[in-house]
Amino acid sequence: MADVKRVALLPGDGIGPEVAAVAVRMLEALVPGRIEFEEHLFGGASIDAHGTAMTDETLAACRASDAVLLAAVGGPRWDTTDPHAPRPEQGLLGMRKGLGLYANLRPVRAIGALLDASPLRPERIRGTDLLVVRELTGGIYFGEKTRTADAASDLCVYTVAEIERIARIAFAAARRKVSNVDKANVLETSRLWREVVLRVHAEEFPEVRLEHVLVDNAAMQLVSNPSDFDVILTENMFGDILSDEAAMITGSIGMLPSASLGGAGGPGMFEPVHGSAPDIAGRGIANPLAMVLSSALMLRHGFGWETEAAALESAVDGALAAGLRTRDLGGAATTDEAAQAVISHL
Ligand code: NAD
Repeated sequence: MADVKRVALLPGDGIGPEVAAVAVRMLEALVPGRIEFEEHLFGGASIDAHGTAMTDETLAACRASDAVLLAAVGGPRWDTTDPHAPRPEQGLLGMRKGLGLYANLRPVRAIGALLDASPLRPERIRGTDLLVVRELTGGIYFGEKTRTADAASDLCVYTVAEIERIARIAFAAARRKVSNVDKANVLETSRLWREVVLRVHAEEFPEVRLEHVLVDNAAMQLVSNPSDFDVILTENMFGDILSDEAAMITGSIGMLPSASLGGAGGPGMFEPVHGSAPDIAGRGIANPLAMVLSSALMLRHGFGWETEAAALESAVDGALAAGLRTRDLGGAATTDEAAQAVISHL
């Protein structure tokens, strides 16, 4: 077949292998023969086998793939206070750096069947279907840091090229509009950010609606009127805070997928927001839906397979509407029962 994609699969640790197996099963049912999986040890599992959370071979294999599908890493087995001992999270950071993943995408959808699981009132969140596009490798988190006895500073720097590439991702993902979130009334980096966003919009995406929202206002709007947003485009620190705030809309961490995209046609990385959940690992009760929804993001943002991505997402919705509830959602369904429920709605 012409368009077979190669996916580097990193099951990792804890519940990682349990939920990764469900994603593979789902994708093989949805797009049979169109994806080839190549599995690699990652995180704690790689430390045990190779003494490092990510080997050069694994990074090279991921670079050569069309997408990286990661479950979760970490666990008490590798917790250590020895600063020289290898740690599972070093694999994550090394992968982000190694693949140049500068865009973090977190979709937040209010799923009808789970409206009651949100801390917000159902009528406020109904219809919410937004995407936070966060710049991931620039800004204040990466600027020069100083410290003296009685003062400290963190430098916030953005270049035009960094803003252009993240803006393009946001405009390309928009269905209704892009809400550019900044603090242009105070910050010089925000003024440059807004100028560049305006230019990229005018030159490349004039058909997309664009609005500007100051970050403090955006934080309020997210809880008072979340369904008004479509794509939220923002810098690293604002995106860090707003994406966690937005995530609360859906209720359970077992439901949240994410995508990180890199440059120059390189592969993106797709992973659930949750960790390796050592407290429930090996018991077959993990919620696999965040991993399944991460696979849907891979189909959409990694391969451009929108129809297949939407089919997978609506199968998840269908299974939930039919009553599927794993333990984190207040039910008793096992990982395997959740997988079967989604497959039956594909
Ligand atoms: P966690 O997300 O693993 O777990 C938090 C709580 O949510 C736990 O009670 C867990 O049982 C529950 N939970 C998480 N995912 C679930 C799922 N799919 N289904 C049902 N319940 C689920 O976070 P933590 O406990 O802070 O961290 C555990 C380990 O995971 C640590 O070693 C941490 O470093 C690592 N971690 C890894 C990642 C990653 O791989 N990206 C992210 C966060 C934490």
